[in-house]
Formats: sequence, structure tokens, C-alpha cells
Amino acid sequence: MIPYKHEAFTDFSKEENKKAIKAGYETVAGYMGQDFPLIIGGERVTTEEKIVSYNPSNKTEVVGSVSKTSHELAAKAMDIADATFKTWKKVKPEIRADVLFKAAAIMRRRKFEFSALLSKEAGKTWIEADVEAAEAIDFLEYYARQMLRLKDGQPVESRPGEYNRYDYIPLGVAVVISPWNFPFAIMAGTAVANIVAGNTVLLKPASTTPIVAYKFVEVLEEAGMPAGVLNFIPGSGAEVGDFLVDHPRTRLISFTGSRDVGLRIFERSSKLNEGQIWIKRVIAEMGGKDTIVVDKEADLELAAQAIVKSAFGFSGQKCSACSRAVIVEDVYDQVLSRVEELTKALSVGVPEQDEHFVGPVIDGAAFKKIMSYIEIGKGEGRLVAGGTGDDSKGFFIQPTVFADLDPKARIMQEEIFGPVVGISKAKDFDHALEIANNTEYGLTGAVITNNRMNQEKAREEFHVGNLYFNRGCTGAIVGYQPFGGFNMSGTDSKAGGPDYLGLHLQAKTTSEML
Ligand code: GLU
Repeated sequence: MIPYKHEAFTDFSKEENKKAIKAGYETVAGYMGQDFPLIIGGERVTTEEKIVSYNPSNKTEVVGSVSKTSHELAAKAMDIADATFKTWKKVKPEIRADVLFKAAAIMRRRKFEFSALLSKEAGKTWIEADVEAAEAIDFLEYYARQMLRLKDGQPVESRPGEYNRYDYIPLGVAVVISPWNFPFAIMAGTAVANIVAGNTVLLKPASTTPIVAYKFVEVLEEAGMPAGVLNFIPGSGAEVGDFLVDHPRTRLISFTGSRDVGLRIFERSSKLNEGQIWIKRVIAEMGGKDTIVVDKEADLELAAQAIVKSAFGFSGQKCSACSRAVIVEDVYDQVLSRVEELTKALSVGVPEQDEHFVGPVIDGAAFKKIMSYIEIGKGEGRLVAGGTGDDSKGFFIQPTVFADLDPKARIMQEEIFGPVVGISKAKDFDHALEIANNTEYGLTGAVITNNRMNQEKAREEFHVGNLYFNRGCTGAIVGYQPFGGFNMSGTDSKAGGPDYLGLHLQAKTTSEML
């Protein structure tokens, strides 16, 4: 077995890669606007009601539409997933892993097509799309290897005359509710962790980005995944989401999305429903209010670059995005003026053209919400850059910086999920850490410092799941920087980490007298 290594990123300054992504767009053009069915037990099911996916850069361009799952169809999908679990759990882990390896190979071959589709459906720039496509492949390669490691359980002691074993067995039907901001990587990662563990899946992708999920299910089918293991059932949260979260046969829920929806799922899933004989397991990856702290002894150019890149990459629509910076007063003005300069130099536009660093935000609702936060920011702090938006063609918002904010200001506390960063001044490094920790979230953070003692202090005291030194706070890599946060950021799971697969399994002890 080749040891795991993350998928290389593409250098788009090379002509051959430019050509390849352009060919990717052409492939996507071949199915743009099509209507895609549900996939339940391998069967294609078309419904009257549709979910339409639009290009956020061009509001009138339809990327595709998918059928919308009704209550009855969700119930049917559950019955099929439940029945398929009886056979899938008995398929050898090696064979389940092989399905993932084969699928990863197909995805690698079609990487530029997937990147082009991500740029059409989610508004990602070439670079952001490429990094996501690489991450999706990484999840398959990584979890498949993790399963091979866990397939024989863990060693336990046995006394003379006794034979003890500790094995991992699958759980049952998993409901996977995936987000629109990583509609390929997180969707694929949360689905395949279940599949390779031996669970069957009901996949409800985000309603803004269902097409890439459909294409992914096709890849798994091509790789040999049996019918009924992964069922594609897009639908509304209120109708299908709640129904499946409540369903007595749901064994596990893997959710990535907002704090409010995550808490709602957590609460609903804790209620026992008729016929239910287990306590549901919930894996929830929720929001962040992530801070970059800048110390006085620091590379200030690196600090400004890290803030701008982490704040505005993919228009700030990552739960890992830098949405606040806290700068020690000695270097505050210097860093701020460089952040201003760098931000004003960013170009905003349609990602398909690859000239822009910042693309659109996902849809009209996001546009409105972010613009209303920008109005709040104008009242709370000093507008340094951006502050405007234009939704006449697509949903474009200028990268926006607010300075001189009170650490308790709403801009410094609430998750905006857009290209807006708030900046506060700290008296010294300890004060900066105190501000960095003053949110209810705890996902990512970065500290820019050349002071080793301060770095160690942050390692202990900065309470976030992913802490980075002298770099930005986005871009975790599967198997290198396992990803997931503390407090209101989720259930403390770490996607792409050595413990992740265990959350999809249960351990069984057997003891035999010899
Ligand atoms: N894993 C991504 C990163 O490190 C963020 C995932 C998310 O936004 O949900 O940037």
C-alpha cells in the first residue's frame, strides 16, 4: 500500500493547467441546466417539485435542477438504507476501502471537471476549487487507509486460558447533511467515512449545491458501490431533515452547517421516538469566529498577508475564515495600513475568468445578511476598505475591513460568513489572547509572533481546535491538520484525523474461555 500523501495543488500559471480547467468547463457545459433525479436504492426517481441550483456569479444561469425528496420518498430511502445495512456491514472492510480507492482514482481523472463545476455552482475561483477537489480525493484516500488500520480492532490483554478481542463494528444508517461551502470535499468526506465504516447513508446535500453531490454519487457507483449504500435525497431541512433526524432507525447524524441548525439537530436527536432502541450519535461541525492575533515581535508583512488571505479567500465563506484580527497596539497602525492596502488591491469578479481573488457569495439571502452586517459595522467601527456590494448580476461584495472595534461589538462576536473582517487593538499579547478567546466558538486561530514564549503561551491558552503559527487560519489538509473545533464550533470531532473513523463505528469486546 502506498503511504497516504495529500493530493498536489495545481499551478494555474502553467498553460497546460489552464487548458485543462477550460476543458473542465466544457465538460460541465455538456450537462449544465439538466434535471437530475434522486437516487434511492440505485433507482432514479424523478419528482414534480424541484430544487434549482443557480450560478452565484450569474443569477439567471441554471447549473441544474434536482428532484425534491418528499416525506414518503425519504421514508422509502430509509427502509432501503436500513435493509442494505444488513448486507453492506458484512462486506469486508478491504472491499469497502477498494471502492474508495477506485472512486478517488476516478475523481483524480475528472479533477478539472469537478473544479469547473465547483466554480459554476459554488462560485469558487480556480485555486479554491482545485484545493477543494484535492481535499475530496484526500478524504477518500485517507479514510480508506484508516479503515484498513482499524479492521482487525485493537489489541487487548488476555489472561491464561482466555482469548479476548476488541473489534470495531458498523453502526447502521447515517443521515449526512452537508454544507454548500465545501459541497464536494465535506459532502464526500462525511459520506465516505460512513460508507467505508460499513454504515449506509442518506445524503441530503445543501440545496444551493446539489449537482456536485449528484456527480459524486455517480462516481461511487462507477467505483462499484452497491445500490442502496449511498442514497441521494436532496430536500428541505424542515421536511426531510427533521423527518430523518427524528426517525427511529437513524443511528448517526453527521451534520456540517450553522450553529443554530446544529443545535436544533442535537436537541431533536436526543428525543426517543417510538420503536427506537439506541441513543443517536451526532457529529456536528458548526461555525467559527476565528481570530488572527498579531504580536509586536512579528513579521508584519506576513501578518497582513495572512489576515487578508484568510479573511477573503472564497469570500470569507469558510468556517475557518479569519473574521477577526487582534493586533497589539505597538504595531496596530502599521499592520492595519498594510491590510488596507492589500484589501483594496484585491479584485472581485466572476471566478471563471481566473483574474480575481474574490468571487461571489453563495446566494441572495447570504448577500442580504452580509450587507446588513456591513451596515452594523459602520455603526460599530471605522470602515477601512470595502463596504459595498452589487447584486445586479451575481452576488458580489467588496472585501470589507472594519477597524477600531470594541471586542464585544457584534462584528467581533457573530458569525457573518462573508468577506468581512473586524479588527481590534490589544494592549499587549496577554490582552490579545484574552480577546481571541472571548467568543462562544473555538474553531481556528492563528498567532503571528517571533516570540517563542508567547507562541507556547498561545499553544496552551488559545482555545481553538486548529491553531496555526505564522500562517493563515484556513486551508487544513486531510491527514496533516485534522480539522474541527471546540465549544459552539461542534462536537469536538476532527475531520481528516486519526480518530474520525472511530466516531462512525462501535467497539465490541468478545471474551472466550479456552
Ligand atoms: N477545512 C477548511 C479549512 O481548513 C474549512 C472547512 C469549512 O469551512 O467548513 O479551511
